[in-house]
Amino acid sequence: MSYGGASVVVVTDSRAADDGPSDLRDEAPEIEVRRSRRRTRTVSAFREGGRIVVAIPARMTRAEEREWVARMVARLERKEARRKPSDLELERRAHELARTYLDGRAAPGSVQWSTRQRKRWGSCTPQDASIRLSTRLQGMPAWVVDYVLVHELAHLLHAHHDASFWEIVDRFPHAERAKAFLEGVAWAEQHPASEPGPDVVD
Ligand SMILES: [Zn+2]
Repeated sequence: MSYGGASVVVVTDSRAADDGPSDLRDEAPEIEVRRSRRRTRTVSAFREGGRIVVAIPARMTRAEEREWVARMVARLERKEARRKPSDLELERRAHELARTYLDGRAAPGSVQWSTRQRKRWGSCTPQDASIRLSTRLQGMPAWVVDYVLVHELAHLLHAHHDASFWEIVDRFPHAERAKAFLEGVAWAEQHPASEPGPDVVD
């Protein structure tokens, strides 16, 4: 993300939250505030590398910053929630995908979101055909969520990533694109765009 030479200073970095138990990490998002001299009135919030970035004009006071960060994070989360299918919708979608790409050879049991999958995008338990999808996928394009569902469905038939496993997964037309998308997200999470530094302005 380029700020066109504007002064970018990280004033808030809550990476200490990484030390907490994995299920707690989902509850409070990491927030990074970027002050930009180029911005005069606009405030924006977006996700980058697993955290929420709030970009504000450099001249904002700390009180204004607190108010705007709270407002923008809440707004972003509301917007993302609208793109979050419920567990039931996820399960219906999984059945649909199983019919289309597995020829009905396997059907999912329960399909649910999970806050506990920080390293994996999804998992499946062949014993009861249950599938769990990481809440980190929420807000991502529908074809990426579909890919992870197809991937986990294929594991109901093949435990390992062998040729017969990929033969099923690759029937999903967006498989390669979705794999690249998720690799990009994982890479970005490991390579934050800006290192936290001292607050040199003010
Ligand atoms: Zn797999």
